[in-house]
Amino acid sequence: MMWTKLIWPIELLLTTFELCLLPLLMVLAQNVGKAGALSKPVQKEEPVKISLKDCLACSGCITSAETVMLEKQSLDEFLSNLEKGRTVIVSISPQSRASLAVHYGLSSLQVFRKLTTLFKSLGVKAIFDTSCSRDLTLIESCNEFMVRYKQSQGTSSGESKPPLPMISSACPGWICYAEKTLGSYILPYISSVKSPQQTIGTVVKNYICQKLSVRPEDVYHVTVMPCYDKKLEAAREDFVFQVDTDSEKIMEVDSVLTTGEVLDLMQLKAVDFKSMEESNLFANIDEEGHLYGVHGSSVGYPATIYRHVAKVLLDLEVKGPIEFKTIRNSDFQEVSLEVNDKSVLKFALCYGFRNLQNVVRKLKMGKCDYHFLEIMACPSGCLNGGGQIKPQPGQSGKELIQLLETAYVENVVVADPFNNPIIKGLYSEWLEQPGSEKAKKYLHTEYHPVVKSITSQLQN
Ligand code: SF4
Repeated sequence: MMWTKLIWPIELLLTTFELCLLPLLMVLAQNVGKAGALSKPVQKEEPVKISLKDCLACSGCITSAETVMLEKQSLDEFLSNLEKGRTVIVSISPQSRASLAVHYGLSSLQVFRKLTTLFKSLGVKAIFDTSCSRDLTLIESCNEFMVRYKQSQGTSSGESKPPLPMISSACPGWICYAEKTLGSYILPYISSVKSPQQTIGTVVKNYICQKLSVRPEDVYHVTVMPCYDKKLEAAREDFVFQVDTDSEKIMEVDSVLTTGEVLDLMQLKAVDFKSMEESNLFANIDEEGHLYGVHGSSVGYPATIYRHVAKVLLDLEVKGPIEFKTIRNSDFQEVSLEVNDKSVLKFALCYGFRNLQNVVRKLKMGKCDYHFLEIMACPSGCLNGGGQIKPQPGQSGKELIQLLETAYVENVVVADPFNNPIIKGLYSEWLEQPGSEKAKKYLHTEYHPVVKSITSQLQN
């Protein structure tokens, strides 16, 4: 495995160092100190075991036994499943397409067409776009937010007031940190809607398989994503299901390849990607050949919910792009909708660990007046994920992000997700309506406070 590629922003590494390794080093230092002071021969200590439960998904280190799990999410495993003749389906994220587009000097749409040609030539049976499943998660998120908002305003009868702010759930780095470090107080704030990766996973294994008359256990579903944390997300127990009690366990997403690993695949197969033929696309595309999607790689969540809630609940039309105001830095921005000098909708986006730590501290102190928070672990959001293609020599990270932002929205028809014909079809044929029992079963999940095993060992 190419762990040398697991390099995250230094801010995150420092945070992880503080949170994860510092207590361990302190205990080791104490032990060394004691041994030295008493001039006794140093006793052989039991090795400290670190399990996946201790991982903060920083991509900065790796545990031992769990490498087996992660090896299952590798290029070799992907190729071996193709060789075995399994029904392989690939779902590609728009952030990965943007990264490859900038790397090759192509448009995102061209990349998608060429990737379709590439994967088909390798034997992949179907290729999907996770912008489409993102529309599904956005609709469910709008619905969940409206329920919480109405209950918080006392305009709807609910058993108990669900807390606001509602916090986005699409980033596994943030979820991992919340579960392992912040624990039970924060979890009720987090939206129960699955991420776009797990949503496409559930659609493929529970709906498309049925449509194609294929057993879900016979399908090997791979996603192409901008970060390594998505591998950990795919492996969560919450995203494994059984058709019936005696049947084998099925993963919604069997394997995740990062954008960088797809680049490795092209190099391995000596593919001339730039001159590769462009295949026709069948899904998530309008009559003029534009892909459905929303503006902005990460900001799409708050912008879509803000606009929708203003229209449906407050009867206010928010026209044009939503202007977020920078608060401390470009990774902490907010927008507020005022009615009669009162803020009726206050949303913020908060990227990177330093900003997210500040905002959760405020929340804990009862000083957070936002209605919705989009929290993402990476500074600049998913376009800057640890699995993306690195900047070219001489290119700054900032320059690369600007190019990625442009490539991300190129050829995208910015549509209201409620008008996406594929999503409409999924509700009418399968899910019934947003927030229905079926939607809850397939598109929502739960979070669990995790007791870190290393902490208990250190306490002992
Ligand atoms: S913000 Fe970073 S860690 Fe979170 S999903 Fe995006 S790329 Fe992954």
